[in-house]
Amino acid sequence: MILSQAKKIIVIGGGPAGLMAALIAAEDGADVTLLEKMGSVGRKLRITGKGRCNLTNSAELSDFLRKFSDRGRFIKPSFYRFSNTALIEFFERNNVPTKTERGGRVFPESDSAEDVVSALTRLAKKNGVQIITGAAVRKLIIKDGAVTGAELSTGKVYDADAVILSTGGASYPVTGSTGDGYKIAAAAGHGLMPPRGALVPVETSGNTAKELQGLSLKNVSVSVFADGKKKADEFGEMLFTHFGLSGPVILTLSRILSESLTSGAKTEVSIDLKPALDQKKLDSRLLRDLKTYGKQQIKTILKNLLPKKMIPVCLSLTGIPAGKEGNSVSADERKRLRVWLKDFRLRVFGCRGLDEAIITSGGIPVKEINSQNMSSKIVKNLFFAGELIDIDAETGGYNLQAAFSTGFVAGRSAASAKIT
Ligand SMILES: Cc1cc2nc3c(=O)[nH]c(=O)nc-3n(C[C@H](O)[C@H](O)[C@H](O)COP(=O)(O)OP(=O)(O)OC[C@H]3O[C@@H](n4cnc5c(N)ncnc54)[C@H](O)[C@@H]3O)c2cc1C
Repeated sequence: MILSQAKKIIVIGGGPAGLMAALIAAEDGADVTLLEKMGSVGRKLRITGKGRCNLTNSAELSDFLRKFSDRGRFIKPSFYRFSNTALIEFFERNNVPTKTERGGRVFPESDSAEDVVSALTRLAKKNGVQIITGAAVRKLIIKDGAVTGAELSTGKVYDADAVILSTGGASYPVTGSTGDGYKIAAAAGHGLMPPRGALVPVETSGNTAKELQGLSLKNVSVSVFADGKKKADEFGEMLFTHFGLSGPVILTLSRILSESLTSGAKTEVSIDLKPALDQKKLDSRLLRDLKTYGKQQIKTILKNLLPKKMIPVCLSLTGIPAGKEGNSVSADERKRLRVWLKDFRLRVFGCRGLDEAIITSGGIPVKEINSQNMSSKIVKNLFFAGELIDIDAETGGYNLQAAFSTGFVAGRSAASAKIT
């Protein structure tokens, strides 16, 4: 009796895409080796969602696809085959119960990204995946237009019937995602959409942000203005840093800010600190506070309206003396205060680099990949998964879902594909 040998699959890169691809291919009966260049897998995954891992979003499929703009069509078949619901069920089955927070963001109940990495690693090993760390791949071995293995930087060669390339993007390179996959794929004949940082913090002029550094604002509405024209707005949380602005709302708006800067427009961010109050209601509130606490200094009265750290900045930008008593604040000063509270403007002059970007836009062009099975249209038996592909979305768990879905499809397809 002749026993058919298990198909040999090499997965390059042990992020969420590679781990999912590896454990699924192994579950389907393949003999899988995962090559990871860092000392451990899932370095970036461990720091996602500030260590809490926003692993997906509960949004409906149509909303989900919209987050990927024109790449929605490419990612759709992967989401069909492994949806957000399927991912949640997958983690629940593997002892990682989840919870859904504001904006449909799904997290492990334990708030621990470490639990997500452990579950994936445990399952990969249980399914028989051999995980080799400290193994940096430098090129693919290609014969007659088909991949036959991968070569490490040490020169060691691993033979394979199929290879899944899942080396991530080029952002946060300290986690191992240094853009190697772009070079590996290019040497095999693939093109590249230029990698750019997406979901990046932005730099602002002057010292204002620096004075407020460390301060996080919740429930604010932030708008982007290009040459005085409003381009977009977002509601939620933001953060001041020593160089400018960060936090979820700013990261989401960073694409529009970057486009505005590239076009050469005067680019500004306007923060509405009191979005729940219109100008009229805010004026009544100011009048009431100034009257009720008329004998107190304005810097004290403002404690009812603003975080302590913002008060000196507010008074300096509105030109109201800090020691002025509530009773003596003039109508014009009150107007300046009201306008500022609804429209605190900061000039943006740049975006931070790839090092600090949450995600890389650009990568392997989607037209070179079969969206049904993640296979290369250029090299036989080669598959792609994750951020390496030219797909990226807003914050909210969409990017991890894309990594898991494309990883799932690449793993399943590689295991079942007819080797040519
Ligand atoms: C700070 C931060 C927070 C984030 N938070 C979230 C979040 O909460 N929710 C969300 O949806 N997304 C989040 N993201 C984005 C998300 O982490 C990525 O989209 C996701 O990790 C991409 O998965 P991947 O497997 O494609 O790539 P990666 O996670 O980058 O993994 C690629 C792996 O390949 C390895 N590798 C690279 N080159 C080689 C080589 N030559 N040989 C062998 N191995 C190699 C790397 O070491 C790495 O382990 C966050 C990103 C950052 C930076």
